[in-house]
Amino acid sequence: MSDYSQHFVADHVKGLPRSGIRDFFSIVAAMPQAISLGIGEPDFVTPWHIREAAIFALEKGKTSYTDNLGLIRLRREISTYVENNFGISYQPETDVLVAVGVSEALDIALRAVLNPGDKVLYHEPCYVSYSPSIVLAHAQPIAVGTSAEDQFGIDPARVEAAWEPGCKVLMLNFPTNPTGGVTERAKLERLAKFAIEKDLLVISDEIYSELTFEGEHTSIASLPGMQERTIFLHGFSKAFAMTGFRIGYACGPKPLIEAMMKVHQYSMLCAPILSQEAAIEALKNGAPAVAKMKEQYHRRRDLIVRRFNEAGLDCHSPKGSFYAFPSIQSTGLDSLSFCKGLLDQEEVAVVPGTAFGPSGAGFARASFSTSYERIIEATDRIERYVDKLSKN
Ligand code: PLP
Repeated sequence: MSDYSQHFVADHVKGLPRSGIRDFFSIVAAMPQAISLGIGEPDFVTPWHIREAAIFALEKGKTSYTDNLGLIRLRREISTYVENNFGISYQPETDVLVAVGVSEALDIALRAVLNPGDKVLYHEPCYVSYSPSIVLAHAQPIAVGTSAEDQFGIDPARVEAAWEPGCKVLMLNFPTNPTGGVTERAKLERLAKFAIEKDLLVISDEIYSELTFEGEHTSIASLPGMQERTIFLHGFSKAFAMTGFRIGYACGPKPLIEAMMKVHQYSMLCAPILSQEAAIEALKNGAPAVAKMKEQYHRRRDLIVRRFNEAGLDCHSPKGSFYAFPSIQSTGLDSLSFCKGLLDQEEVAVVPGTAFGPSGAGFARASFSTSYERIIEATDRIERYVDKLSKN
């Protein structure tokens, strides 16, 4: 067919970059024999009791829409979970919205609060959808770099320096995809002070918080004065290994949840009922399974970080998430050439750091959501590849 229909595509959509990860993975998909450290999802199957809850719900004929905000039983569980784990108190009736993953929650949060031309501060390297989601909400993304020297934590001084008139939102994510960086309480306190001073709304994506290996995770929403200016986002995909259930949630002040609800009810309507039933079970009884998976990730993290450093690739130890972010600068190659060469010569897939924004240049993302044994095999091959490069 001809490209005739091309002119119907909206300008701001035409301008969006294709996902760097997608491009890279279409190459990987054609190589089933390759070892992939590229995936951004758990290698574990959803714990059985959670799957069973969805099966029971289906057997009972639960096939309807739910309340736009989500099942009230789920919202109550979410409210209890967030209070117990993050120390923030939300009313299940008015302050909690169940969405189709954190992806949808993020999208409707941005669309509910941004006017055309508003500016959004976000830190980079970051999850691939942040900048496009801001653009799709007709706003302007302003990237703030993070660096290996700070172990990819957010530096409040850099956020302050990047601020300009018109900034309305500050987006945070830690533990961070792709770097595993976390931001300590003292830095968060300074960011909170800045957000209050500049009257910023914070959208805080805490999807990896259960996978924090060192120190305590602190949510910015729990700091004094911040709950009323924070939309807290969380979900089930990562810690509960429930990516395919597509379920996440937003907690926040009633007016903002109401605004998000308006967007949600005219787009998604509600999250799938079977996934909501499974999520209730996850929150009620999922903690032991989460702890077991976390233990595996922790062991694999220590292995992969050690192996990268032994191979001559400088790699900080990620304090959370299931991603390592080694520097590939010692090889003299740029991120994409390094990753393409590794795939061609040793059949190991890692993601070029630049897929997560320009400040990912000189790095690659390697996910440790794959078995210990495969990490050993993959890192042996990486070492061989780096060795060959050093001899060229
Ligand atoms: N936020 C971050 C930081 C992520 O890394 C991801 C997925 O990789 C998401 C959100 C999307 O999560 P969900 O599956 O809940 O849509």
